[in-house]
Amino acid sequence: MRNDPRSHGLWEVSAPQAPVTAPLSGAAEADVVVIGAGFTGLSAALHLAEAGKSVIVLEADQIGFGASGRNVGLVNAGMWVLPEAMPQALGPVYGPRLLAVLGAAPAEVFALVRRHGIACEAVARGTLHCAVGAAGLAEITERARQWAALGAPVEVLDASDTARRLGGGRYAGALLDRRAGTLQPLAYVRGLARAARMAGARICTESPATGAGPQGAGWRVTTPEGSVQAAWLIVATDAYSGALFAGLRREQVALPYFNMATPPLPEGVRAGILPGGEGCWDTRAVLSSFRMDAAGRLVFGSVGRLGWADRAIHRAWALRALHRIFPQLSGIGFESDWFGRIGMTADALPRLHLLGKNALAIAGYNGRGIAPGTVLGKALAEHVLGARAIEAMPLPVRPVTPAPLRLSHEAGYSIGAAAAHLLADRI
Ligand SMILES: Cc1cc2nc3c(=O)[nH]c(=O)nc-3n(C[C@H](O)[C@H](O)[C@H](O)COP(=O)(O)OP(=O)(O)OC[C@H]3O[C@@H](n4cnc5c(N)ncnc54)[C@H](O)[C@@H]3O)c2cc1C
Repeated sequence: MRNDPRSHGLWEVSAPQAPVTAPLSGAAEADVVVIGAGFTGLSAALHLAEAGKSVIVLEADQIGFGASGRNVGLVNAGMWVLPEAMPQALGPVYGPRLLAVLGAAPAEVFALVRRHGIACEAVARGTLHCAVGAAGLAEITERARQWAALGAPVEVLDASDTARRLGGGRYAGALLDRRAGTLQPLAYVRGLARAARMAGARICTESPATGAGPQGAGWRVTTPEGSVQAAWLIVATDAYSGALFAGLRREQVALPYFNMATPPLPEGVRAGILPGGEGCWDTRAVLSSFRMDAAGRLVFGSVGRLGWADRAIHRAWALRALHRIFPQLSGIGFESDWFGRIGMTADALPRLHLLGKNALAIAGYNGRGIAPGTVLGKALAEHVLGARAIEAMPLPVRPVTPAPLRLSHEAGYSIGAAAAHLLADRI
């Protein structure tokens, strides 16, 4: 991907090849034009094509170039917002509806993977939200109580159970969520692309949409070398939205997040770390995440950009943190690192927008885009197909609203994470 190992890192190395695609050239027509080839756009395209619609997906770069090809690979159930806060945030209809949709979303992802035979290292063995100190334990205990009240298969593990499952760490406990799991994200998004193509969708890469406007009864989208006329427009550009959909970008505060991966661990060491195959993250404000890939590499992540100024800080911290959690890895470092942009919204919930007649966008997953992007992309397809009224969508339609103090929040995330990692273990 653009020969830049810091954009997609390990995932570029271990993912199956992307399907062969080409830029859009000349004038084309379709029932639906989708902008953005990540989880959201490709899930929408797949479900539309399976239902017999003609679909053209325009991707500015390559399949999975945005957050979909860079993330940790935690297939989570739900968002950061606590279950009981959801009805307050979205009202008595949409709150419970979104909870139900997102609670079932990992199962939908794993079913989709099976149905299309997507080779993406999918492991449905749960996640561990690891508690740091008494405050962290209180947080996960409350979260578990609220999900359990809804019948979700969650439980709180004590400190020794947590250490046994991790093969290290000194956490106060962990929330085990058996609905969740992990996958190789670039492999998954490429697999969605392959499945969408098999169903008849056309995917045009290196085809940035440079203009989009109503024309006739539908929409005309232009790229440097071509155009698409379609009855429906789906915009799925999320945190990688550029000038054309600047409003969507301004609605989000970009949180930088990096991952670093060890080489495949020696068999004896590997067997003792996360033997149950769960994916993990912790309750710190500047959180850490860790999980194993299929080859036995530990993928360790946290908040931060890997720019020229801060990469060394984050690498040094990550090494210290890795060895503190797993002392058995002392002497083992990282062989790859990469980072991306997470789109955070003011209320930590994704947004559904009507950009005009027959034009929809969903964005703002707040770092929870694998399962939500898949099922909300499918919901967009259902709406276009006439199978789901706009009032029956999992999210209410909202106006595009700029995030307050966006630029200072973005600078705060980058500078704050670098400062936290620089000072960690030193004060
Ligand atoms: C480092 C990192 C870690 C994360 N970890 C997790 C995790 O563990 N679990 C989880 O669930 N989520 C995680 N996320 C969030 C998740 O990856 C995103 O929410 C999800 O990928 C969003 O998918 P999407 O399809 O909506 O957008 P994207 O995957 O960002 O795709 C948008 C695409 O639109 C394209 N585009 C933009 N403008 C144009 C244009 N004008 N014309 C054509 N194409 C355009 C971009 O090139 C891009 O490929 C993480 C994100 C990051 C960055």
